[in-house]
Amino acid sequence: MFENLSDKLDRAFKVLKGQGTITEINVAETMKEIRKALLDADVNYKTAKAFTDDVRQKAIGQNVLTSISPGQLLTKVMNDELTELMGGTTSEINFTGPLTIILIAGLNGAGKTTFSGKLANFLKTQKNKKPLLVAGDVYRPAAIDQLEVLGGQIGIPVYANRESTDPIAIAREGVALAKQQGNNVVIIDTAGRLAIDEAMMVEIEQVKAAVNPNEILFVVDAMTGQDAVNTAKVFNDRLDFTGAVLTKLDGDTRGGAALSIKSVVNKPIKFIGTGEKMEALDVFHPDRMASRILGMGDVVSLVERAQQQFDEKEAAELQKKIRKNKFDFNDFYSQIQQIKKMGNMKDLMGMIPGVGKMMKDVEVGDDAFKNIEAIIQSMTPHEKENPDAINQSRRNRIAKGSGTNITEVNRLIKQFEDMRKVMKQMSNPAAMANMMRRMP
Ligand code: GDP
Repeated sequence: MFENLSDKLDRAFKVLKGQGTITEINVAETMKEIRKALLDADVNYKTAKAFTDDVRQKAIGQNVLTSISPGQLLTKVMNDELTELMGGTTSEINFTGPLTIILIAGLNGAGKTTFSGKLANFLKTQKNKKPLLVAGDVYRPAAIDQLEVLGGQIGIPVYANRESTDPIAIAREGVALAKQQGNNVVIIDTAGRLAIDEAMMVEIEQVKAAVNPNEILFVVDAMTGQDAVNTAKVFNDRLDFTGAVLTKLDGDTRGGAALSIKSVVNKPIKFIGTGEKMEALDVFHPDRMASRILGMGDVVSLVERAQQQFDEKEAAELQKKIRKNKFDFNDFYSQIQQIKKMGNMKDLMGMIPGVGKMMKDVEVGDDAFKNIEAIIQSMTPHEKENPDAINQSRRNRIAKGSGTNITEVNRLIKQFEDMRKVMKQMSNPAAMANMMRRMP
């Protein structure tokens, strides 16, 4: 799902690659690309425009920390805004009183009956509830059969009345039966139509009035793109539903519906369907969906952790030192401590897209820095501040003192010197630009 959108956003970000800061000019170009990507994914125009305007404003105001590239920073801003666009926080079923009544609405083929079964199964297995399913689609005998088969599969009772053609009476009977049998949730599947139809709307309004549901969930096929949003609007105007369910997100959907529904009808998406099986139901998490859309979810957490750990004043001090080539072993040591505070090394590496898979079988313990720390701790204050002063006899002493060996000490000092060289270059904008140009 969303592969196309992710790819396009990825390309849009490339415009920012190699840029030192986020400016009006480079961000305008990127926003144009992002808006195009969103429109292609079937997000409606108004939503896409409001979204990119918002992201642009937020991105330009941000200070770019040395440890984060503008592209990564923009990813973070995009992630926050996408999350907000899709509702911000996770929204679950509201359980109130001894019996929670849930009415399922939507067009034919949207996946109402399938979702009714999935929801019953979810509430039973994950929430410890005792649901009753009610077959309210009186026009299609096959729909009643389908619900009974599903109920049998997941071990949930189904109330049906094949003699009746009155969906309002059936809904009432279902609720009465649930009370009588001691069920604490009743899920009423209703009849749909192929398209919006006045008779259907009136009927479901009457069912709503008759049973006064706690939740009305509007089920919509995500593959129908813009139509999904239009249908949602009509249903919401009539029913004032409490949440939407997007089905068939496992298919080749462009995902625009997920991005537009909340902003158009101002109702949360509560669940997503990701397959035909009864288990293929997910609670909808706006933040995780945003990460998935961006195709780089874990970098977001990485950037967040970096932002938490690195304070800007310290970063500025450090930059000054680097520029003067005064970065020493004390600074190096404190950098290691900061990285360690960000979390387990393997977890951190796993947050970099692609690296997680690569690192699957590699052992990186929490003591990855143990020897480096020991070596630095065995240096005298003078040596820490003056790495150039560490001659051969000092190296021998440090190796002995740290319980390592001379090869390790030599390697660390060599790496440190190389690092200082690179840092010096990076702190010089002209040299940096030169280096970037030479990159593939
Ligand atoms: P209803 O007319 O709204 O009750 O729709 P159904 O529940 O009968 O579903 C219509 C078709 O969509 C059926 O073939 C379902 O198996 C299929 N379906 C429902 N939800 C999903 C889903 O999340 N993913 C996929 N791939 N198929 C689904």
